[in-house]
Amino acid sequence: MEEYEIAIIGSGPAGISAAINAKVRKKSFILFGNKSLSEKVRCSHLIQNYPGFPDISGRELNEKLAEHMRRMNISVAEERINGIYDIGGYFMLLAGENEYKADTVIIATGARTVKELPGERELLGKGVSYCATCDGNFYKGKTIAVICDYKEAEEEVDFLAGLAEKVYFSPSYKTDFSRNNVVTLSSPVVSVKGEKHADAVSLKDGSEIAVDGVFFLRQSVSADVLLNGLEMDNGSIAVGRDMSTSVKGCFAAGDCTGAPYQIAKAIGEGNTALHSAIRYLAGKKAQTE
Ligand SMILES: Cc1cc2nc3c(=O)[nH]c(=O)nc-3n(C[C@H](O)[C@H](O)[C@H](O)COP(=O)(O)OP(=O)(O)OC[C@H]3O[C@@H](n4cnc5c(N)ncnc54)[C@H](O)[C@@H]3O)c2cc1C
Repeated sequence: MEEYEIAIIGSGPAGISAAINAKVRKKSFILFGNKSLSEKVRCSHLIQNYPGFPDISGRELNEKLAEHMRRMNISVAEERINGIYDIGGYFMLLAGENEYKADTVIIATGARTVKELPGERELLGKGVSYCATCDGNFYKGKTIAVICDYKEAEEEVDFLAGLAEKVYFSPSYKTDFSRNNVVTLSSPVVSVKGEKHADAVSLKDGSEIAVDGVFFLRQSVSADVLLNGLEMDNGSIAVGRDMSTSVKGCFAAGDCTGAPYQIAKAIGEGNTALHSAIRYLAGKKAQTE
């Protein structure tokens, strides 16, 4: 299993800022996210409030961030973290079938842009899952619904279609994805039904479909779903001035800590979180000496 001093989750401005500072401070770290870095920055038409770069397009700024990382030899591990487990003294991070160990974690996963559906949170772990690789095998030969937010996740829909007998697919974007056993729903899923276990989804047109399980393939999920026990404040991670969270050794930065949703704030918080993580590591080391 790979082990690091610092695991940074999220390749937007906040995570990149933390990674650059970790590199400068010669820490062992891993940065999880996407090679394309931040979709939000990339799709910003014109950025006028990032000091030093008047009137820069989001695409250009994203490219500058990528160039900065290339020059510093920082790479992005293209993994989606599905769970963070506080083992007491260190953290285990799950990315599908892969596991990583880290002394400290910085969550920089951005703001959750999609609202949870009724029943989603209540039935999470009871027939509702966010991770195809982790839970797909439970649905071999069964009927499932897959609610998908982004095209890149269609690889996972394909994987699920290879296991399940039938897949009701509800994409929130235009796609021509098709498989023999996949039925693309024309009306979106609006809620998950079930008492002790998810057993149906209801659609906007008022109909209901019986299923054995429901997968949500979301670009970002609420941080307290990733790390159990993380204190939230109105949907954002509750943090102190040093970006510490309610979980010892876990820090957070950027849009996931709340408004204002701005690049400069994300970069500043990423920097602060990294320095706090270094202080935490030093304290931990002093305790064991
Ligand atoms: C259209 C638009 C225009 C904007 N214009 C401006 C502007 O002019 N000025 C300004 O200051 N701000 C602007 N913003 C806001 C700015 O883009 C955000 O504040 C900034 O991107 C936040 O950075 P972040 O690092 O916190 O999160 P993000 O940029 O959202 O990055 C988060 C990253 O984490 C990854 N991630 C999420 N979950 C996981 C996981 N479980 N495992 C691995 N990776 C994960 C995501 O894929 C993403 O790459 C704009 C935003 C939009 C959408």
